[in-house]
Amino acid sequence: MSSNPYAWIEESLETIHCADWYRSVKTIYGRPGAIVNLEGQSLINFASNDYLGLAGDDRLIQAAIEATKELGTGSTGSRLLSGHRELHEKLESAIASLKQTEDALVFSSGYLANIGTISALVGRRDVIFSDQYNHSSLKNGAKLSGAKVIDYSHCNLADLETKLQQYRQQYRRCLIVSDSIFSMDGDLCPLPQLLSLAEAFDCMVLVDEAHATGVMGKTGAGCVEHFGCTGKELIQVGTLSKALGSLGGYVAGSATLIDFLRNRAPSWIYTTGLSPADTAAALAAIEIVQTDRDRRQQLWRNVNLLKQQLAGLNLLPSESPIICLGLATPAEALTLAKQLKERGIFAPAIRPPTVPTSRIRFSVMATHEPNQIQQLVISITSILAEDDKRWKSGE
Ligand SMILES: *Cc1c(COP(=O)(O)O)cnc(C)c1O
Repeated sequence: MSSNPYAWIEESLETIHCADWYRSVKTIYGRPGAIVNLEGQSLINFASNDYLGLAGDDRLIQAAIEATKELGTGSTGSRLLSGHRELHEKLESAIASLKQTEDALVFSSGYLANIGTISALVGRRDVIFSDQYNHSSLKNGAKLSGAKVIDYSHCNLADLETKLQQYRQQYRRCLIVSDSIFSMDGDLCPLPQLLSLAEAFDCMVLVDEAHATGVMGKTGAGCVEHFGCTGKELIQVGTLSKALGSLGGYVAGSATLIDFLRNRAPSWIYTTGLSPADTAAALAAIEIVQTDRDRRQQLWRNVNLLKQQLAGLNLLPSESPIICLGLATPAEALTLAKQLKERGIFAPAIRPPTVPTSRIRFSVMATHEPNQIQQLVISITSILAEDDKRWKSGE
């Protein structure tokens, strides 16, 4: 036996290449913003989750610098064993105030918040009903919990209800889990109806507000606010890394829930607390979200402008700053992303296995200038028109 036990890795990579599923990382330079320098080329950035343009904002940078000077770079250990900072408590109160919940808990990332929360809430005797398009962190959290996981078709309440009728009774606790804004499509979950079904079938509900916090709702609290569900009992998770321009995740809910998670969520207990810089930056961002409504309005003006200008193309249904142009194959998506890049536009091709169908995904920011949005529209329409001509001339 002289075979190399690692040889399969190269073969597996080859298969990924053949399917046009291969991905690699590109280096960007300078501060994040509406324009990025990608490997030497200056591009208009439609690839960022920095919806409010706060990740490069001087106020967040200043807050991070001051916290670092005062408190250092690292948190030195888990919060339970090494103690935490006033700054952590302040951030948790700020999140609870934004979300209008009794309390909140911050994790080192949104991914860890989801894994830790779901696996603390349910176990082997329980059942999870999960939207088929849920984010990877929700799916893996569900798997890790050991609960029975039943997927329902995307935003399909009839399918969910049928499955609840069929399976709910066989299990102890039940958790319905959904993204609030679906990250690769941009549509919203039917939250009020999910909450009604949950009540009828004695289930808990967990919604992931990762893309909605700072973006949706009158005060930027997210889809819970957008749908008028503020104050209802449910579990909200999310991230500090998108509209809030920092790094970390959170859970917001009742004081009892948060107290329980501090005792039972391993991805919170056994990991180092958020750094002072990340904590202070997120805190500064929440203050901006709560005081600067113009910024959110600017974001929505940009979203509406882009949607209006692209009407007539094969856009996926969206009610958020995530706007996707559907394409037939991964290769087509890759080609269009490349052609856009040649015209100065940075927007990613999203392909299987991340999603079932290929697309280009545009994320709109508050800090995009109207002429930058116009530039995107002109680029797409001219590329599609050229392709059309080539097709008709039989090239
Ligand atoms: C980005 C994202 C996460 C993960 O958040 P991180 O803080 O980046 O780990 C979780 N859920 C959804 C829906 C997301 O889009």
